Amino acid sequence: MTRSFNFCAGPAALPTEVLEQAQQEMLDYQGSGMSIMEMSHRGKMVVDISETAKQDLKDLLSVSDDYEIIYMQGGATAQFSMIPLNLLGKNNKADFVNTGIWSQKAIQEASRYADVSIAATTESSGFTRAPEQGEINVRDDAVYLHYTPNETIGGVEFSYIPESPVPLVADMSSNILSRPLDVSRYGLIYAGAQKNIGPSGLVWVIVRKDLLDQAMETTPSIMSYALTAKNASMLNTPPSFSVYMCGLVFKWLKTQGGVAAMGEINERKAARLYNFIDQSEFFANPVAKDSRSLMNVPFTLRNSDLDKQFLAEAEAVGLRNLAGHRSVGGMRASIYNAVPERAVDALIQFMADFEKQHG
Ligand SMILES: *Cc1c(COP(=O)(O)O)cnc(C)c1O
Repeated sequence: MTRSFNFCAGPAALPTEVLEQAQQEMLDYQGSGMSIMEMSHRGKMVVDISETAKQDLKDLLSVSDDYEIIYMQGGATAQFSMIPLNLLGKNNKADFVNTGIWSQKAIQEASRYADVSIAATTESSGFTRAPEQGEINVRDDAVYLHYTPNETIGGVEFSYIPESPVPLVADMSSNILSRPLDVSRYGLIYAGAQKNIGPSGLVWVIVRKDLLDQAMETTPSIMSYALTAKNASMLNTPPSFSVYMCGLVFKWLKTQGGVAAMGEINERKAARLYNFIDQSEFFANPVAKDSRSLMNVPFTLRNSDLDKQFLAEAEAVGLRNLAGHRSVGGMRASIYNAVPERAVDALIQFMADFEKQHG
């Protein structure tokens, strides 16, 4: 068996140890004689898996008791409508920072329900930077300010948490758990699992309890944060196997030293790759230095005619999924928690060799 170095933006690499444990427990979970996928979600084993996963996420991010931690289905995209449905029952004003493609998707969906105002946009820079605090203008009577701390496609990450006069809502799909986070600064955090946590289809939501009483009356029960929290995320049959996989990743993160240790490793990985790109005359990254993502590193070749060859040769040596998003082209290396430092080193070595041959 050979494991590739997988730089996919999502679904993304999972820790090998986690996959091995899931493999070992696949047919007979802890002496039950069956797989988790075959068990009642009302039974003790699945309930324990679910509660332990929530508690471990709570521990990892030091989430206080002021928040509910829930998981839901439909990925991060479903949250683009669930957030307005759950928060805009009394007043429908919602403000957004637009830093690229994921911000825009959130804005577009919220516009179906909300009176949307763009608090800041970096469109004039081609979405190659995060806005400064002073550029963000939030209406005092908005219900929340939504932003995307890490634009997965553009590779733009905020280096600070915006100050906001209204509750801050963040799409952390691609940077949750990548470094320490002050959750108390937020009203709501959500993250699709398939970048830094586990299998796709599931989304984690950390929501401040005082925001649970302002849903629109038409909010479907299965999309209600309040009902989901009240029913321990088991309003209907949950995606138990995915929750189990997320739980294994949370345990793995704890054994790695938690988000503080991950943050240091991620800083090192990103610094090495950006430094290499910056000193090269063959590769380039368009993002402003203070807005560069720790997780997603887009880069271009000076001669884009060589893109295909670069990707093919990378594949041939086990460096996979380096193509940029179909909307932007070029290359992108996603270097999430589960992508080891040696994968980044192998990528840099490959890039240096490629430059020598073609530069
Ligand atoms: C991947 C991603 C999404 C979409 O996630 P789905 O689970 O496919 O809905 C949303 N926002 C960000 C920032 C992402 O990276």
